[in-house]
Amino acid sequence: MSAIGTSGAGHVRDAVIVGAGFGGMGAAIQLHRSGLQDLVILEREDDLGGTWHVNRYPGLAVDIPSSTYSYSFEPNPHWTRLFAPGSELKRYAEHVADTYDLRRHMRFGISVERSNWDERNRCWEVETSEGEVVRGRYLLTATGFLSQPKMPDIPGIETFAGEVVHTTAWDDDVDLTGRRAAVIGTGATAVQLIPTIADRLAELTVYQRTAIWVAPKPDLPVPRAVRSVFAALPPTQRAVRLLGSAVLEVMMVAGVLHYGSLRGANRIGETVCRRHLQRSIKDPELRARLTPDYSFGCKRPTFSNDYYPTFTKPHVRLETETIASIDESGITTADGRRTEVDVLVLATGFNLWDTNFPALRVIGRDGRDLGRFWRESRFQAYEGIAVPGFPNFFSLNSPYSYSGLSYFTTIESQMRHIGRLLEEVRRREATTFEVTEAANAEFLARMTEKLGDSVFTLGSCATANSYYFNQHGEATLLRPTTTLNAFREAASFPLDDYAYG
Ligand code: NAP
Repeated sequence: MSAIGTSGAGHVRDAVIVGAGFGGMGAAIQLHRSGLQDLVILEREDDLGGTWHVNRYPGLAVDIPSSTYSYSFEPNPHWTRLFAPGSELKRYAEHVADTYDLRRHMRFGISVERSNWDERNRCWEVETSEGEVVRGRYLLTATGFLSQPKMPDIPGIETFAGEVVHTTAWDDDVDLTGRRAAVIGTGATAVQLIPTIADRLAELTVYQRTAIWVAPKPDLPVPRAVRSVFAALPPTQRAVRLLGSAVLEVMMVAGVLHYGSLRGANRIGETVCRRHLQRSIKDPELRARLTPDYSFGCKRPTFSNDYYPTFTKPHVRLETETIASIDESGITTADGRRTEVDVLVLATGFNLWDTNFPALRVIGRDGRDLGRFWRESRFQAYEGIAVPGFPNFFSLNSPYSYSGLSYFTTIESQMRHIGRLLEEVRRREATTFEVTEAANAEFLARMTEKLGDSVFTLGSCATANSYYFNQHGEATLLRPTTTLNAFREAASFPLDDYAYG
């Protein structure tokens, strides 16, 4: 072991990957394809799967059709539902790790604190929380977007004497049966959780700060016969995937990214959700409180058939008054009303922009600190993957990296980018690559201009509290282009956009 920065001798691996979720595994598969085998994947958790390992709350399921939420090169004919439950995603992650021989690279329970570009040895030094230093010629961070849980900063919350559970740390030992629970938050997670736990509880109070647009969920079991056809004739499942991807693409591109020029598409999305709410909730006062006051698409909408009906049950109450404080046995709202609670469920989501960009300290050439660079000179990354001043670094969860609605679109276009670039590095017999300032500036300007037509710029998003926006008020999470454009550019970006050394 040696302290970081001492540039001592030590084995330099081909690459260090941080994160053993679908992003990190996709990166490792690509590195294998590029001829690199000496990899290490460092994972904070005690097993692989990322989101699908950490999240185990009741009702967890993928919220886009499963046939599109998987690697295109590793289709899974066994999904039991159109929107598969979380446990199947976890099993799929294990299957991918085994099929592509990735487990041998993985080390669990390792938190990475910081990484430092070692100019002299032309490698990355990655320091773990235990003080161990791991070296790699390349560094790939695949730490996810939704990986740092957000704890609400509510006065007195630490004094609550009952059970407190965040949805990312679900505890099956917490008995809900016959008890009084409060759920704080009404994001996509809460929408899945609330209907699943409601019937077990004696009382459920849901604290909503911002309503969410909810569309009907066209979920169905996939009959065994259909699964057999998918397994025997993979092109049939590919066709279903293509159809699902096309629908998601139209929703995203027409409804969100081209809001200015195709406003009708956004209205269709909003109308579908409004009708769904109208059909589910007859009480106009309750309906009004469940209706978002911001444009459809400003924050991630979700799908559910049983979320709204849950609020019509006599023991379930929607609370829209601000929470003022929490004491040892209850929650008091700003108007002075107090609700006694046995179990407090925090469906309060994730902290993206303060702690996740980047999720660890990354120090590049000449001491450039990635977090400081992003905060002081706008959040940016060339093609959502590379940053000037950071040689041999692929930042997979970057500003403008998320493309389309399925995370696998992002992963696979990034794999393509990595493959093309490493092929060029090999061809030139180079040891380093680094994106040029000019290419990065051109990409940032292009993305900024494209955002000008999106719902994020032209819609009414001020009250949405959307995590798509960073602390500067810019919606820099999503790549504002079609996924086809993302794939095309990953396969054809000018190789001179990088400097090689
Ligand atoms: P989220 O969308 O960020 O929602 C967090 C909720 O907690 C919001 O309603 C938020 O209110 C509320 N909240 C946070 N702090 C609060 C406070 N101090 N007081 C009161 N309310 C507070 O998080 P999420 O529901 O976990 O979903 C995050 C993302 O995960 C989704 O957008 C989706 O992309 C993904 N997801 C995917 C799946 C799936 O595919 N299976 C399932 C679930 C989630 P404000 O809106 O006012 O901030």
